[in-house]
This record gives sequence, structure tokens and C-alpha cells, in this order.
Amino acid sequence: MNKPLPQLQPLPEAERRHVAVVGAGLVGLCSALWLQRMGHRVTIIDPAPPLGDASYRQACSYGNACTFAPHGVVPVATPGVIWRVPGMLLNPLGPLAIVWRYLPQLVPWLRAFLASSSKAEVDRIAGTLAVLLSQADAAWQPLVTLAGAERLKQREGCLYLYKTEAQFRAADAENGLRERHGVAMDRLERADIQSMEPNLAPLYERGVLFRDAYVFSSPKQLAFALAQALVEGGGEIVRGEVSAIEPRDDGIGLRTAGKQIVADHAVVAAGAHSRKLTASVGDRVLLDTERGYHVLFPNAGNLLSRPVCYPEHGFYMVPMADGMRAAGTVELGGLAAALNPRRTAMIREGVKTLLPGAGEGSDEWLGFRPSMPDSLPVIGNSRRLPRVTYAFGHGHLGLTLSALTGYLVSQIVAGQSSVIDLTPLRPDRF
Ligand SMILES: Cc1cc2nc3c(=O)[nH]c(=O)nc-3n(C[C@H](O)[C@H](O)[C@H](O)COP(=O)(O)OP(=O)(O)OC[C@H]3O[C@@H](n4cnc5c(N)ncnc54)[C@H](O)[C@@H]3O)c2cc1C
Repeated sequence: MNKPLPQLQPLPEAERRHVAVVGAGLVGLCSALWLQRMGHRVTIIDPAPPLGDASYRQACSYGNACTFAPHGVVPVATPGVIWRVPGMLLNPLGPLAIVWRYLPQLVPWLRAFLASSSKAEVDRIAGTLAVLLSQADAAWQPLVTLAGAERLKQREGCLYLYKTEAQFRAADAENGLRERHGVAMDRLERADIQSMEPNLAPLYERGVLFRDAYVFSSPKQLAFALAQALVEGGGEIVRGEVSAIEPRDDGIGLRTAGKQIVADHAVVAAGAHSRKLTASVGDRVLLDTERGYHVLFPNAGNLLSRPVCYPEHGFYMVPMADGMRAAGTVELGGLAAALNPRRTAMIREGVKTLLPGAGEGSDEWLGFRPSMPDSLPVIGNSRRLPRVTYAFGHGHLGLTLSALTGYLVSQIVAGQSSVIDLTPLRPDRF
């Protein structure tokens, strides 16, 4: 269900500020653009922003599954997850893996993750996600137009497939939850799927089409277009890594290797790397990462008309500008461990079976989803430094929710009451 958003009016001159945004992922870029539309002077700081010939590969916003996903109302932790996890971990072709040596550091996050999986919690979280998702497209539209990025949008929905009737039935609870929250979806028979995606191996029995989903055919080009729009609007993008954020008499100081940048207000949108910045402010936030992978199949871009996902395998196959990107899976293991080639081999194997004409995979990528245990983002002010706003933790939905997050951030910075109840998203909820 797509709901409109009230238009944000530019602020009177006296209320305009200098706002520094840490991080040029989609969340930082969209926050910067919404802040700019309100009349603020905006500076983004990022060590490798989407400008010039930057690869942009360090950003999670570079390598995702490109999908605007209004069906994402179902959180990652659902009832019974504790019993399903061991089987997933034992299956080398399964959607979940863990870097065992990271386990001790992960315990508090995992404890909160399991606590979020009760039926009551899942209903509460799904309700909050549904509210966010219902306004996510309305928040994207003005930014897409401003950045000239309409050309990147492909609107053919998104397909979830199930190999057996039993698997399809087992997904009843999740699909029922989506339906109760107004997700536009059609249940499909084998013949429907065959006519929609004739190049898939006919391994499916049933499917679901999420009608309102769409693809940005290149998240990288999207980020570059947003950055360019910001600069054209008078915004500044500074190359640098912020190591600490501290209060000053004249505002907020952001320490980088070269110099200290001073602003009236700071927004922390450094994705999975945000925790060390919240720590420098003195706030403890239970942010970790769900590592995800992609493999690009450069000759398979024309084989599919829309993103296709077998939830059993945990990755999407997405037709995009450069070919077909197979992206997804979850690996719990922090920010330090290197790319695990067994995970990309598993994606390659899966694609070979599911889309036999895909050919060889080339580019392999590891990225860091910024993830909170309850699958909800953090959007709100620091308790210790109210002139610092946090905007991270978007997990599996960062591309989908980044524009709405930017809209909400600009309301927070202006001191306006938010169009959405932000209580469930507060930074100190754990
Ligand atoms: C495999 C995979 C598939 C996905 N598929 C989808 C999908 O289909 N749909 C969807 O909605 N979401 C998807 N996601 C999730 C989505 O990509 C993320 O939630 C989103 O990109 C997070 O954006 P971000 O701006 O918070 O972080 P990022 O994109 O990671 O950006 C953070 C930026 O902060 C910068 N930074 C870090 N530390 C500092 C510092 N100290 N100082 C300054 N700058 C700093 C980094 O350089 C980076 O540019 C997927 C994720 C993965 C891994």
C-alpha cells in the first residue's frame, strides 16, 4: 500500500543550519538531499564517496539486490528461528553461515535477536515496518526525479518461488502477515511462473508475485546521481573518515585525519560502521552486521524480467544494467573477516541449478548490512548529544527505506514532529 507524504516546506532563513552527514551510502545521501531541500547547508564526509571514478565498493549501498521491496514487512527473526538455525548452519548450501571466532562478540546481539522472535514481537515489528514501507516510495519519488534516476527504475514486481507445495504452505504465516499489512501480491501456479520467467529451470511448484516491488538497475549509478544532485544544489562532499564526534561551544566537532569539521548538527549514517561513532559520543547501540554477498553473471542480464528469489537459497537473482546479479545470504561474522569464497561458490552453484543459461559468474563482492537485532532501523537523536542524529541499521531494507529515512531525519533536525511514530526506532531501545 503506497501512502503519500506531506510536502516538506523550506525553513525560514533563521532556522537553517550547517549539517554534517557522516557516510555517503544511500541513507547518508538521501538524508543530505532532504536536508538540503529544507534549506540547510549540507556537508557529507566519507572516505570514498560516489564521485568521479570511485569504485564505491566499500558501501553496502553498492552491492545489494537492487530491489525496492515493499514486501519486507517480515523481520529476520520469526517464531521458531532458534530451531531452524542449526539446520541452516549445517547446510553448506544454506542461506546462513557464521564466523565462529566472532561468536563471543555476537552474544548480546544474538540474545536480543532471539528475544525479537516471539509472536508478539514479530507482530509489533511487522506493524512498524509496514508503516515505514507504506511511505517509502513516496519519499523516493522526489529524489529520483531530482537526480534524473527515473531511467534506472524497472517495474515488474518481484517473484518468490517455492519448489514444493509443502514449502509454499510453510510460508503461509509470512505471506499471511504480508497480506494483512496490505502488501500487493498474487499467488501463482507453475504455469504462471513458466510464462513469466521462461528461462528459469522449472524447479518451482508455486510462487508469489509482489506487484509493487521494483528494481534500480544500478544502485551504484543511483548513488552517483544522488551525489551529483547534492553538489549541484550547493552541497559539499568531503573525502575523509570521521574518527570521533564531540561537543563544542560553537556546535558539533567531527574529527578526521586532516582537520576537524565543525557543524551545527551532525547525522551519523555510516552504515555498519556507525557503532564506533556512537561510542565516541558515549551512546551504546546494539548494531552489528549481517554480511551479504553477490556474484555478477555478466551475460545473463536478459534472462530474467524481475528479481527472483527462492527463500530456501536466501539470494535474489536480479536483472540489472551490468548483467544478472545474484545477491543475498547472511553471514554473521563482524566487519573484520575477509570474503569467504565458500559463500560465493554456494551462490554460483545455486545459480547454475536455478538459471541454467546464466553462464560463468565474474565479480564477487562482500558487503556489510548494518543490522539491529529487531530488523528495525535506528532513526533518532543521541541522548547525550541531541544535536547528533543517528540514521543507520537498515539491515535488508536500506535501499528501500533510505529516502524515507532522509525525510524523517530532516524533520528531526528541524525539530518538527515526525509523520511516523519514531519510538520503536529510538537508538537506546536495547
Ligand atoms: C547482499 C545484499 C543484498 C541487499 N539487497 C537489498 C535490496 O534488494 N533492497 C534493499 O532495500 N536493501 C538491500 N540490502 C541492504 C542495503 O544494501 C543496506 O541496508 C544499505 O545499503 C545500507 O545503507 P547505508 O547508507 O546505511 O550504509 P552503506 O551503504 O554501507 O554506507 C555507509 C557509508 O559510510 C561510510 N563510512 C563508514 N565509516 C565512516 C566514517 N568513520 N567516516 C565517514 N564515512 C564513513 C562508508 O564509506 C560508506 O560509504 C542488501 C544488502 C546486501 C549485503
